[in-house]
Amino acid sequence: MTANLLDFDLEGLAVFCEGLGEKRFRATQLFRWIHQRGMAQFDDMSDLAKSLREKLKVHAHVAALPILSQQISKDGTIKWLFDVGAGDAVEAVFIPEDDRGTLCVSSQAGCAVGCRFCSTGHQGFSRNLSTAEILAQLWFAEHFLRKHLNQSERVISNVVMMGMGEPLQNYNALVPALKTMLDDHGYGLSRRRVTVSTSGVVPMMTRLSQDCPVALAVSLHAPNDALRDSLVPLNRKYPLDELLAECTLYLDKAPRDFITFEYCMLQGVNDQPEHAHQLVQLIKRHTAQGLRCKFNLIPFNPFKASGLLRSDDATVAMFAEILIQAGFVTTIRKTRGDDIDAACGQLAGDVKDRTDVAQRIAQQRAVPVQWVNVPSSLSAGKA
Ligand code: SAH
Ligand code: SF4
Repeated sequence: MTANLLDFDLEGLAVFCEGLGEKRFRATQLFRWIHQRGMAQFDDMSDLAKSLREKLKVHAHVAALPILSQQISKDGTIKWLFDVGAGDAVEAVFIPEDDRGTLCVSSQAGCAVGCRFCSTGHQGFSRNLSTAEILAQLWFAEHFLRKHLNQSERVISNVVMMGMGEPLQNYNALVPALKTMLDDHGYGLSRRRVTVSTSGVVPMMTRLSQDCPVALAVSLHAPNDALRDSLVPLNRKYPLDELLAECTLYLDKAPRDFITFEYCMLQGVNDQPEHAHQLVQLIKRHTAQGLRCKFNLIPFNPFKASGLLRSDDATVAMFAEILIQAGFVTTIRKTRGDDIDAACGQLAGDVKDRTDVAQRIAQQRAVPVQWVNVPSSLSAGKA
């Protein structure tokens, strides 16, 4: 088996090139061809010496993920379903906005945390994605969109690790992927525009702050341990006070001077005024220790198996008002792409029925991917 070069950050690629008896700077040239130009064929990389190209053809490849489907929402959101083998599939979602293009990336097939309100959590854990499988989502989406929008400039300005999976439970594959997103020879994204979202894997938050500090979003969802235990089972291992203390420490190294707290609004479960007041008390104990944060309220995106309901707009607005009155910047997340099940927590990678997916994968492999036209609303969004 030859190496998939999407598996390496620049340092890893330099080591790989040295292993082929090449100078390290060759790795930089190669890295730029792959990530900045979207090239996969070594023969197209015209400034690489022929001898290097020949070696690469023997020892390496650049492999995209096969695409099982592409869906485009009325609002321009695009969702891709990628085949990662053995009946597993993962999703990435592109969300165009006036001033940015955001790609929501998956880190695992399924998820072991098992949050009650999350469709990915309900499907269980299948496996970690490799660095190449994480990066292939960005590599494909960026170069596909450039081609379709006929744009030579960067289309994706922000990456959020908010697709399927818990990124901090796939730490070793995550970090080289993040480094490649940030690298000036790779995607050159600002640390402030790459966000890791976590349900609260405390020790890995510490390591992330040391190894590759990027913007951090923490999925809170509850103002006390009893309720959070029932919604986010990982809370039993890393309870709220421990999690919030780690958030405070993270800020020392973070590129942004606040942590974003995500709070999924579940009717009658965590959305009442007393929950908001309790949340204010909890967070204020930690702001006294230096924690700075913003709240992002996410209207729950329902799916059948959850047995949960979305809070109504008035309840969400009242909850937001209590946080705002207490001095916290609070936003309510706009739902995007819900007509194609691309909204937060709806990403299930269609793995619910593995037999069916295996069959579909077999059928679709035979069909070349249709490069559909991106609607004009998407181009307009980028203007
Ligand atoms: N595992 C990470 C990142 C992926 S989930 C995490 O939990 O943070 C990304 C975000 O979507 C999280 O804030 C998560 O709580 C939220 N989410 C999950 N299911 C949802 C649903 N059904 N409706 C709305 N938001 C949901
Ligand atoms: Fe996993 Fe995040 Fe879903 Fe919880 S919300 S099950 S951590 S993907």
